[in-house]
Amino acid sequence: MKKLMICIGMAAALVGCSPKEEKVAEQPQPQEEFKYLVDEFADLRIMRYQIPDWDQLTLQQKSYIYYLGEAAKCGRDILADQNFKYNLTVRKTIEAVLNSYQGDRECADFQNFVVYAKRIFFSNGIHHHYAEDKFFPEISEAYFADLVKNSDVNLLPLNEGETVDDFIAFLTPVVFDRDLYKMRRSSEDDIIANSAVNFYEGDIKKADVEAFYNKMRKPNDATPISYGLNSKLVKKDGKIYEDVYKADGLYGEAITAIIGWLQKANEVAENDIQRDYTKKLIDYYTTGDLKTWDEYNIAWVQDSVSHIDFVNGFIEDYNDPMGIKATWEAIVDYKDLEATVRSNTISENAQWFEDNSPVDPRFKKEACKGVSAKSIIVTTLGGDCFPSPPIGINLPNADWIRKDYGSKSVTITNLMEAYDKAADECPRSVLAEFAYSQDEVDLCKKYGSDADVVHTNLHECLGHGSGKLLPGTQPGALKEFSSTLEEARADLFGLYYLADPKMVELGVMPDAEAYKAEYCSYIRNGMMSQLARVELGKDVTESHMQNRKLVSEWCYEHGKDANVIEKKVENGKTYYIINDFEALRGLFGELLAEIQRIKSEGDYAAGKAIVEKYAVKVDPELHKEVKDRYNALGLKPYGGFINPEIVPVVENGKVVDYKVKYPSDFVAQHLKYGKEYSFLKAKH
Ligand SMILES: [Zn+2]
Repeated sequence: MKKLMICIGMAAALVGCSPKEEKVAEQPQPQEEFKYLVDEFADLRIMRYQIPDWDQLTLQQKSYIYYLGEAAKCGRDILADQNFKYNLTVRKTIEAVLNSYQGDRECADFQNFVVYAKRIFFSNGIHHHYAEDKFFPEISEAYFADLVKNSDVNLLPLNEGETVDDFIAFLTPVVFDRDLYKMRRSSEDDIIANSAVNFYEGDIKKADVEAFYNKMRKPNDATPISYGLNSKLVKKDGKIYEDVYKADGLYGEAITAIIGWLQKANEVAENDIQRDYTKKLIDYYTTGDLKTWDEYNIAWVQDSVSHIDFVNGFIEDYNDPMGIKATWEAIVDYKDLEATVRSNTISENAQWFEDNSPVDPRFKKEACKGVSAKSIIVTTLGGDCFPSPPIGINLPNADWIRKDYGSKSVTITNLMEAYDKAADECPRSVLAEFAYSQDEVDLCKKYGSDADVVHTNLHECLGHGSGKLLPGTQPGALKEFSSTLEEARADLFGLYYLADPKMVELGVMPDAEAYKAEYCSYIRNGMMSQLARVELGKDVTESHMQNRKLVSEWCYEHGKDANVIEKKVENGKTYYIINDFEALRGLFGELLAEIQRIKSEGDYAAGKAIVEKYAVKVDPELHKEVKDRYNALGLKPYGGFINPEIVPVVENGKVVDYKVKYPSDFVAQHLKYGKEYSFLKAKH
């Protein structure tokens, strides 16, 4: 998985934990109070994100971001068409209705239609963005026909000579028929015939695709290109060929628009390195040559100096049932200097942390090197990253490039912050439900998101890299328990050090209280709230969840005599309260030492015993209680965003500045994009 998606588990850690007071002073705030959560419908919530420190950029940097941002918006139609062959037809019809329908817009039917429209915009098509099944409008077919008939006929994507009635007859089953185009991507054989995605055309079977690409792949190729990444595979008159995405090929109109903005961007790039790889990207878009795509990635991944960065291309293959073809996506971003300095500080002190850790000296690394990860601020999301983006990205995807040239691993801080603050604005929160006292809620709101980010940094930059195996221990000795134990080891390393005075000394943590917020939310999540994601009657199976359960339950049990963590039940609701933070830190240290021993010695029996005792089985009563309490909150499981608008300020015919505006109307943004960034013809 190259994309780090926000999930309920992370949201549970993020919900309600945000350092309101501190950040307000640092950021120039808009006049009125900035609202993050702006809309909720179906199972979705719509948020806005801020672009901090915008005014510290130079005019040239702002221009560069602006041009890259325009390029990021030009591929919206490509993604819709890739997802399903009639998505553009459906979307353009919906846009026509929203832009021109003459009837009553206040009635319940119309409001239900608007919900459907928003879901189409959110999912870039008629299938759920995550579940991938088709969703339906809560209106009748007759009402839908009425909407289309009472809209401007010139805005409808009609074929030459087609009547509106004929068009409605075509479109109605596409929208309403429950059996037609049921899944965007199906795992049922034949996976291609059963998937509505538009990567394959004509009567193509799974075996045809395999045969076609196996013929291209060379055995023992050390630098294989990503065959099939940027094309549709078509079967016509018994012949199979690729229709390549390129300037004079498939999606050419949109790709040409993207190239135009990339060329403008290159005129104001920060340096020659950027100019060179962007030129390679333009060449790739022009020719469709995947060798050029690899060359671009190799140059791009090695650029660590530029302040501004971007992703733009056919990149992730999750949507293709065959895992070959990539959807189009784009983001534009720049370095979050403050957060990057923090993770660098942690990395630079890797040896100190290793030397002072509570594990047996025999298991410590003599020479320890931290991994540094970059934190970024996004300015525009596009394609498959919009409106529902990842919060972290690790690219490029080609394994041999990652091995030979490395990869860029980034965390998107302004999106994480937006998730946090939006959860704060919601009156129903996981934090308020599962925290025992108002003090605990206040503590988490004050320090929670900072402490969580630092814990993640410690986990990623140091935790996984710490410690060593004893000579003779096989790396795979812990077998099926290895990933749970490995995650526990990394988490414990972070938890133990979060409370160390060294963290405040290094300026990584704000003060000696802040770590308590992470301790509270970790135990709350590990003992209870994460169980909301597990089906009743099932065990905990996912390794990160097992790890959190193991750590929490082990510490609860081992601190029971001293009442370190106390279980209280009030009004039928269970709570876990930390009475002694110092002692809990001691327990984290003890468990870290034990799990490091298990790993270093390859003690499979001990690893199996500890995982099976603490990480897997759920108390059925507590499980049911947690699920009931969580469901009663009525939280929307999926989130997405409205892009800020970057607007040129023109004086005497010259652009003198770029201002950031924060629109708050989800539908209006999509109608604007539909007017200004739609380059492909809807075909049916
Ligand atoms: Zn990990």
